[in-house]
Amino acid sequence: MQIARTHAHLIEARAALTARMQGGVALVPTMGALHEGHISLVRAARAAGFQVIASIFVNPTQFGPGEDFARYPRDESADCAMLAAAGCDAVWLPDVATMYPPDAATAIEVAGPALLWEGALRPGHFRGVATVVATLFGQVRPDSAWFGAKDWQQVQVIRRMVRDLLLPVAIEIAPTWRDVDGLAMSSRNRYLSVEDRARAPTLFRTLEAVKARLHQGDPLGPTLAAGRADLDMAGLAVDYLALVDEKTLQPLDRIAPDARLIAAARLGSTRLLDNLAL
Ligand code: AMP
Repeated sequence: MQIARTHAHLIEARAALTARMQGGVALVPTMGALHEGHISLVRAARAAGFQVIASIFVNPTQFGPGEDFARYPRDESADCAMLAAAGCDAVWLPDVATMYPPDAATAIEVAGPALLWEGALRPGHFRGVATVVATLFGQVRPDSAWFGAKDWQQVQVIRRMVRDLLLPVAIEIAPTWRDVDGLAMSSRNRYLSVEDRARAPTLFRTLEAVKARLHQGDPLGPTLAAGRADLDMAGLAVDYLALVDEKTLQPLDRIAPDARLIAAARLGSTRLLDNLAL
């Protein structure tokens, strides 16, 4: 596995992959502190016939003031070992000055699917995400880019950006990877205390229970209210639990073929996100 820290090295690594002429090049963007969920994206891209470049960059512009940028977990050597073991071909490790030259004057603002939920609760978050992902696309020039369903709104924002700007990258979504008790894997799960880790799977269980009730024909409003109450009872502070259109992220008032249940809740200072297709 090649490790590139400068743009010149990245271009060399990219050219070496092109020269091998096996399939295209896939990008798996990450913020590091890798777990099996990230590695599942590398495996999915490889299984689809791509050579894989993973990026690791803790992007300061997608964190709000008072969020966890400074204490976000960083473990570069363990990350590189996991990527190499998964057959990743190259890893791109830019520093902040490479990502954001001091005279950079451009940012990408997506409206539509970025406006509600995470977008409303974390002003500037999706602007940071869209800008860094577009920059990674410009640096790596991947044929495809792989994202987890876990961050459902994020991948819809990126899809919209790619569609609107006609960026020549195929966006692929891989399923959410979960621990055995259903908790969606996340780099932030390592912040959880033992007690909070035991409570955290309630988020997934609640989504499953709401989904089952909606399929039984129970009315939406009371079912969502009951779900919020269950989360509350388990000690999770609910930011939102909603039924939305899977692409626009607009709230729905009844179940529909393209519906998605999305949820975010806080346990102590850790935010958990999850979602389910209906
Ligand atoms: P992050 O490092 O948290 O920014 O995530 C990098 C990529 O990995 C994003 O596309 C995430 O959606 C994806 N990802 C994170 N956790 C999971 C998971 N449990 N299952 C699948 N994909 C995930």
